[in-house]
Amino acid sequence: MAHDTPKLNAFPVFLRVEGKTVAIVGGGEEALAKARLLSQSSARLSIIAHQASADLLDWITANGAVHIAAPYAPAHLAGSIMVFAASGEEDLDRRVAADARRQGIAVNAVDRLDLCDFFTPALVNRAPVAIAIGTEGAGPVLAQMIRARIDQLLSPSLGSLATLAVSFRHAAERLLPKGAARRRFWSDFFSGAPARAIAAGRLAEAHDAASRLLVSTTRSTGHIALVGAGPGAEDLLTLRAQRLLMDADIILYDALVPEAVVAMGRRDAERVSVGKRKGCHSKTQAEINSLLVELGREGKRVVRLKSGDPLVFGRAGEEMAALRDAGISYEVVPGVTAAFAAAADFELPLTLRGVTSSLVFTTGHDLKGNSLPDWAKLAISGATVAVYMGRSVAAEVAGRLMEAGLASDTAVAVVENASLGHRRKFHGTLADLPSLEARNDLSGPVMTIIGDAVAGANFEHSEPLALGKLQHAHPRIEGVDA
Ligand code: SAH
Repeated sequence: MAHDTPKLNAFPVFLRVEGKTVAIVGGGEEALAKARLLSQSSARLSIIAHQASADLLDWITANGAVHIAAPYAPAHLAGSIMVFAASGEEDLDRRVAADARRQGIAVNAVDRLDLCDFFTPALVNRAPVAIAIGTEGAGPVLAQMIRARIDQLLSPSLGSLATLAVSFRHAAERLLPKGAARRRFWSDFFSGAPARAIAAGRLAEAHDAASRLLVSTTRSTGHIALVGAGPGAEDLLTLRAQRLLMDADIILYDALVPEAVVAMGRRDAERVSVGKRKGCHSKTQAEINSLLVELGREGKRVVRLKSGDPLVFGRAGEEMAALRDAGISYEVVPGVTAAFAAAADFELPLTLRGVTSSLVFTTGHDLKGNSLPDWAKLAISGATVAVYMGRSVAAEVAGRLMEAGLASDTAVAVVENASLGHRRKFHGTLADLPSLEARNDLSGPVMTIIGDAVAGANFEHSEPLALGKLQHAHPRIEGVDA
């Protein structure tokens, strides 16, 4: 025996409203809220309001609803398939509910459960797909919370995809035998090339892809998404990244991507660390490129998860070239790059009116040799400079910039583990920057930001960058462990 599942006292159904009239009685906020909800459908709205608020009047005009500007009378309800008693006045709502019932019309009275024949759901609308959430009137706040979460999970283009599916229904039934073949077609349709083309707004291409799927005998080819995982905090991922993670068959991730983000994938997705931390390359870039191509050929849906933004110091260029050469479909999903996360942690304006209007992303690994790279010239002319992978070249960067004429007291901000709970912030001047290399208390990724705009940051909870000053601030007790 199954255990007793509590029974629903209100059963969800989808009511056909096309070409039908829905009556709303009321002239204020409650009526407007219901009108807005119902206008997500193609029902004709008839709003019975002797005195309508200015907002409601505007809405009626803008949305082409019928306005009956007369004192309420039972005859106003005739012919409607639903009635909303939304006057905000208890007596009137009771009368409307009783009249509706007498005429055999289902009624909903706003905020009066006892008068309701039905409840309105919180709605996720991807017409023709709808997800209705009901709590039997117990928790509108709960229903809205659930609504928001489901909304995030579903692609904004799901409705267009479903509309396209309708137009392929007949063909699929005609050409594909019922059972596995037809199911596979639809599964590839909703998660493969047609879905991706729709998401990119390319309707004709989606149509072609679906037509090809209908006649193809092989499994659809795979797809690689190069996805930005953001700087580390698991809620700095984009909704698109999260959706792709949940769809992926396999997730390839770099060392800097935290476990919590990788764990957002489907539980049965395969997860492969491809490493690439300084000093311990678990796979070479060439190996990663060919692995991606191979997985694509096997028909896998792959998420290639890269820290920050995939196009910023992520070697995405090489991976995209390999995929292009092999004819494997791929897409790029941007992410929050480390410089933005570090700036946010420091409340540091990267551009500042009247102070700096350009921003440089660099590595500092190109400072060898005699000529100064262009970014250093930009720094000298006042740009804000964000240095990636800059810890081991901190002295070189500071030295060369000062040599070239950047003031030694130019402000510098450093963030280790930006966006994460255990981040550390440091501030100082260009003259202090070399000490970064000597610190052995930093093990996480480090972002360095240099420039006059840094002076506008918030230095609360930030430590001095120079080790000497740090020791001065927290004097060591000599001899304790000697
Ligand atoms: N594609 C990534 C950058 C990869 S290069 C992005 O867009 O952010 C790796 C460098 O990024 C690290 O050496 C460090 O300088 C920086 N970085 C990445 N995550 C960071 C974090 N949480 N805090 C500080 N720096 C970070």
